[in-house]
Amino acid sequence: MNLALFAAAALAAGAVPAPSPGLTVTASTAPAQGGVVAITVTSERPLPALVLADGDTRFPLERAAGGTVFRGLLGLDLAASTGARHVVFEAPGGATRVAWSFRVVAGRFRVQSLSVDPRFVEVPKEEQERVKADQARVAEAYRRGSAGRLWTSFKRPVDAPSNGNFGARRVYNGKTRSFHTGLDLAAPEGTPVAAAGDGRVVLAGDLYFSGGTVLLDHGAGLFTQYFHLSCIDVKEGDTVTKGTRLGASGHTGRVTGPHLHWGAKLFGARVNPENLLALPAWPLPGADAAH
Ligand SMILES: [Zn+2]
Repeated sequence: MNLALFAAAALAAGAVPAPSPGLTVTASTAPAQGGVVAITVTSERPLPALVLADGDTRFPLERAAGGTVFRGLLGLDLAASTGARHVVFEAPGGATRVAWSFRVVAGRFRVQSLSVDPRFVEVPKEEQERVKADQARVAEAYRRGSAGRLWTSFKRPVDAPSNGNFGARRVYNGKTRSFHTGLDLAAPEGTPVAAAGDGRVVLAGDLYFSGGTVLLDHGAGLFTQYFHLSCIDVKEGDTVTKGTRLGASGHTGRVTGPHLHWGAKLFGARVNPENLLALPAWPLPGADAAH
């Protein structure tokens, strides 16, 4: 079901006064905490480019139909404020600056109490350097994302049910609290794990908390994460397509048993990876010519 919304409020015009073209914004789904929304913007007249400004995050939308249609994904972090929010669409030169207002719906997240090995709650002194190095390595991997979109559609990385714990508030050994930023899929040890979509391996290695870890860059700000792997069959820099074997599931790192932790990040927003499965297939630019 499409939720059609009209961006009516033209904000400040640029230094050179020019009429703002009417922009019509269509969202694939109602924006919710942890959600991924496919945005389509239609312009009354062609524009050379269109940028979506969401707070401090600015990213170009993908141009189509001679500059009258622009598309992109908007991610709502699992801890995003609920209620009124707006993003701004801007064309170069400042002549077009249009706000799109919407409401962020609350996500329905569980509370989980877990007992784990105490060394994973309070990191022991001798492991603190390693944890710091892991964090730096992950941050660096996220900086290596491709500007252009690499994916066209997504599939589940394992053929296993999810336990629906994306966004769950977690209580470890009765104290430490955190959000569960991914989704756990109940895959037995050794289950083949596939790339959820086309992309590039930006991290493959063993990390303290996430164990055997693969991070994929799908371009245009989107990454997926695969944790606790028992073995890894790809290396950093590899190009993968949807379904490429990344390794096998396991119980390495901070876990209570074997499973695949599958996560997704969209311009830094921690989103439910299952929402990627609901996105309409989106051919890469120029792919039409092949048919
Ligand atoms: Zn998990």
